[in-house]
Amino acid sequence: MDELVQPFEAEVGRVLEIVVNALYKERAIFLRELISNASDACDKLRYESLNRPELLGSDPKLEIRIVADPGTNILSVVDNGIGMDKDELAANLGTIARSGTARFLEQLTGDRAKDLKLIGQFGVGFYSVFMVADKVIVRSTRAGQDKGWIWASDGKTGFTVREDEEPLPRGTAVILHLKDDAKEFLDAARIREIVRTYSDHIAFPIILEAKPRPGDTRTKAHEPQQINKASALWARPRSEITEEQYREFYHHVAHTFDDPFARIHFTAEGTLSYTALLFLPAHRPFDLYDPRRRHGVRLYVRRVFITDQLEELLPRYLRFVSGVVDSEDLQLNVSRETLQHGIVVQKMRRQLTKRVLDELARKASETAETSASATAGETGEPDGEVKKGPSYLDWWAEFGAVLKEGLFEDPDNRERLLELARFKSTRGPGWVSLAEYVARMRPNQDQIFYITGESAEALRTSPQLEAALAKGCEVLLLDDAVDEFWLGEVKEYQGKKFVSLTKGEVDLSRIPDEGKIETPDELYDEDLKRLLAKLKALLGEEVKDVRASKRLRESAVCLVADEHGLDFRLERILRQHHQIERLARPVLEVNGRHELIRRMAAMAKDASREQDLAELAKLLLDQARIVQGEPVPDPGAFSRRMSAFLARGLPAAA
Ligand code: ADP
Repeated sequence: MDELVQPFEAEVGRVLEIVVNALYKERAIFLRELISNASDACDKLRYESLNRPELLGSDPKLEIRIVADPGTNILSVVDNGIGMDKDELAANLGTIARSGTARFLEQLTGDRAKDLKLIGQFGVGFYSVFMVADKVIVRSTRAGQDKGWIWASDGKTGFTVREDEEPLPRGTAVILHLKDDAKEFLDAARIREIVRTYSDHIAFPIILEAKPRPGDTRTKAHEPQQINKASALWARPRSEITEEQYREFYHHVAHTFDDPFARIHFTAEGTLSYTALLFLPAHRPFDLYDPRRRHGVRLYVRRVFITDQLEELLPRYLRFVSGVVDSEDLQLNVSRETLQHGIVVQKMRRQLTKRVLDELARKASETAETSASATAGETGEPDGEVKKGPSYLDWWAEFGAVLKEGLFEDPDNRERLLELARFKSTRGPGWVSLAEYVARMRPNQDQIFYITGESAEALRTSPQLEAALAKGCEVLLLDDAVDEFWLGEVKEYQGKKFVSLTKGEVDLSRIPDEGKIETPDELYDEDLKRLLAKLKALLGEEVKDVRASKRLRESAVCLVADEHGLDFRLERILRQHHQIERLARPVLEVNGRHELIRRMAAMAKDASREQDLAELAKLLLDQARIVQGEPVPDPGAFSRRMSAFLARGLPAAA
């Protein structure tokens, strides 16, 4: 029969290629992926049947069957869950409807070890079947419908979908024609081992039906057998759950197969009764900044899956959390709309948020202790368990920018988030906390200085920091776009104001210079005054003001934003997003002690040198723009002026 082969979406093709090549050694995971999908399908049907019990009909016991038939080389994973109709088959098994797919593909390098890590974070799902099978058939009947459908593919060209003449009563059968080198997966002992390792947490019974090998007559040995515990993992006592079981459960709920950074498992009793098992990932999900990204916490009511779409369960800035919350209080047939606005969910949200922040604080102090003992450590390796996995600081590097969104989204937890936050600073390459910053403040320093920009490394050499650094003040180097937004809301920490060194006037005169004899902060005399007035007249509309700087030491000039305007970086961000049309005029600050400025001040007294002064004024402004990372409006003119003045400074040609 000639069938129209529908091509896979381009992204599927690439994922298939990568999976089949990179994952070869871990190919047993295909079984876990199929069982995981089957379990989700059973969960979904159980939820739908709450309002439509007829969907369960005469077959109310939801379960997953694995049928291994060495006679035909076929391994099937069958569930009597929700099933898929024709369109769902084509959409779910022909495309990758996951946000972040493009980013995932972009990051693949071709280096097997690196790619494997990325695949682990992305999770490959159904397509992993093509590591072990050269032909895959999916038969499916959507619960409540009569027609069934057959999806078939070789994993290369594409897939076909046609009607199933003898449809399953309900659910899905994934039928794998195993490759010659994948026959181990027909072996009952091997299947049992894989299920025990990867899928023991699955709450539905997994039944193994191992058909006899041709010639094997021991019928008794081949009776169907349940091979998992089939109880919800989160409802078991913590002492009875192994690390592996937790990890595999995380893989199931987060759709990844990397290791989690942290786990939170508790039962709340009191005004609310529920059990929560939450995981924080160690690496940024690919779609962390995709607007469609939601947290991955599934809501259950007394072990029955209700929804994985309840956004209100956690604040947006915790959208990397995944896991399960199982409520004893909610009604089973509660609608999602009621849930969203219900008091129970609001309360759970507060408590879950608190637990996540508690766990992060615990991790942070654990890291602080290990690094303190590492600095003190003359004794080498500690006895006993060696800590592995990322530290809190590694984790912060991945997730800090998202957590900082909480500083403006969640005023109730602002103080806690400020304690959890870590920043780059002029002190060195590592991360600092605000508590550490405050403890190191210089005499008479009562403000927290910061500078914002695209890269901490570029910020380190900003002229605007010079005086602060000369005085030994630490400056926070804020290079996440989100910094501009929380700084708009959060004015201080422990009574110390956050002060931008690129905005408004900054007066550091009360803070003594470090180690050196006090030098005056500025040289402000009649000559300088005259020069400032001249520069202002010469630059006209290009600047808001020209003034003597209290923040420069080595550089001649810098730009700063107006006290009442937006800081530079925020302006740039808003302009990129077309929120504002053009930039406000900056203030040009000049260093009254710089040789160039002194000479210009002298020039300003001589009316005959007005023309030179005008050229120099433009050069100065362009120079300040360059340091700031701003484009020079007329690079040609800048270059001509620069060459002219350089030539004058060199000895004449012979
Ligand atoms: P993921 O499970 O991460 O979404 P998969 O590639 O494993 O990705 O599956 C894609 C989609 O196909 C699933 O989200 C689900 O909607 C559907 N699906 C897969 N297997 C089944 C099944 N056994 N029953 C019903 N739907 C399924």
